[in-house]
Amino acid sequence: MSMRILSTRRPDRSQHPLIVRLSSGFRRFQHRWYHPDEPLFQELKRGQKPQALVIACSDSRVDPVLLTDSRPGDLFILRNVANLVHPYVPGGGALSQNAAIEYAVKHLKVQDIIVMGHACCGGIKALVSARARILAGEFLPEAEEDEFIGPWVKVAVRALERAEEGMGEVCLADKARACELWSVRLSLENLLTFPWVKEAVEAGRLALHGWYFDLQSGELLEFDQKEQAFRPLVGRPHAHDLESHGGHHHERRPRAEHWEEHGEALWAHYDSRTMEEGRKKRAHAPEHHREHLPRSPHGHVRGRHD
Ligand SMILES: [Zn+2]
Repeated sequence: MSMRILSTRRPDRSQHPLIVRLSSGFRRFQHRWYHPDEPLFQELKRGQKPQALVIACSDSRVDPVLLTDSRPGDLFILRNVANLVHPYVPGGGALSQNAAIEYAVKHLKVQDIIVMGHACCGGIKALVSARARILAGEFLPEAEEDEFIGPWVKVAVRALERAEEGMGEVCLADKARACELWSVRLSLENLLTFPWVKEAVEAGRLALHGWYFDLQSGELLEFDQKEQAFRPLVGRPHAHDLESHGGHHHERRPRAEHWEEHGEALWAHYDSRTMEEGRKKRAHAPEHHREHLPRSPHGHVRGRHD
């Protein structure tokens, strides 16, 4: 049915601007990860062995793979509104969430679970601004038709209460930020209500981590259990990353730490190969395909770094 709607609205799907952009992105993904020199998917097609389960918000700005410059297969990810973990309910509860945690812990045997909160979270904002209605099971004031957001975020009301303790009169934004931080801690606590999570943690087979991506400052914070506070795991972006490039996008380079030392050499290697292949493919491609082939990796294709 969705195909029919698409083809009715856009007779030629290849002209749909979003589809064009996403499919050319997929072409760059293939170019990087299905390259003859890149054996990763030879391993991955036999199975996955992710290093961690990451529980993050569905928010489009906080993709854990992008934020950590990870590779396919590195992270097993559960995303939901406000990166919440609902407590364990035998045989029931939040099934989608429970199935993901169960698979990661029991089958993939991940050794780390990272709950990653973030600044400016819409789910937390809904809770903070409409707590009374949410607790009463009423619709959210700004969207009468919402059925599910309130009941989902309601679990974080304990985080909001803790945030408010000792805060005094503060603006909504400050309260929301405190609630975002507390909700990460609450999700960690709720993870421990799963008997097999608790058991694995106590046996030292599994470690839990609380992170917070401050998308306002660019920092990544980590919850320090000893100090019971969030501390920078990665501080603010380096000054040179904040410099304006005067609109010259070709000046942009990958920013990962190791690129500071080796980036130029690696980039030069990758650049010339990508350019050469792009040229070859374009020369033989039908006219309407040429736009999708790589012209230059600058600012679009990440460098190879392993
Ligand atoms: Zn969010």
